[in-house]
Amino acid sequence: MLNMPICIEADLLVLSAAIIPNEDVDELGRLFKVPLNQDKFFLEAHMKLRPVDFATDGVFMCGLAHSPKSVSESIAQADAAAARAATILSKDEIELDAKISEIIDANCDGCAYCIDPCPYKALTLIEYMYKGSIKKTVERDAALCKGCGVCMATCPKKGIFVRGFKLEQISAMVEAALIGE
Ligand code: SF4
Ligand code: SF4
Repeated sequence: MLNMPICIEADLLVLSAAIIPNEDVDELGRLFKVPLNQDKFFLEAHMKLRPVDFATDGVFMCGLAHSPKSVSESIAQADAAAARAATILSKDEIELDAKISEIIDANCDGCAYCIDPCPYKALTLIEYMYKGSIKKTVERDAALCKGCGVCMATCPKKGIFVRGFKLEQISAMVEAALIGE
């Protein structure tokens, strides 16, 4: 700032060592199905509204997994993560959202186009015997599905839809809105 060399006599010089994420962090992220930011620290669901949650339900984070921070900040965040986990562990049953995807087995040929685009990894390709031959289809994990509709938009065969948002239902809504105009 001064644009000139200066000399400071100090009693102690303390250097802060860099905090670098573990090399295996990608694998851990894949295992728990949670995202990382560009610096390879875990990314919360929402910085303000869900600061210790992930978009994946039931997984929480705190401390250096999130970003470089002081011990007191890590402890405060750990308290928050424990409290969030307790809200789940204290329940005997958890209700799922009704608006999730549904597979129409007769339409699905197991092409698997929908599997990779699903942001919550809720779909799995399966095979079973049907009338003497192998039938491929997908299976949806109701606990993971968020009803985002990406699979529905991806499927070219109308093999999957989100409850309440079948194409016929959406068309009816559009028609009703236009008639209302
Ligand atoms: S609705 Fe979204 S979360 Fe559910 S299976 Fe389809 S893409 Fe995955
Ligand atoms: S639901 Fe659609 S995109 Fe997914 S495997 Fe079946 S046919 Fe393919």
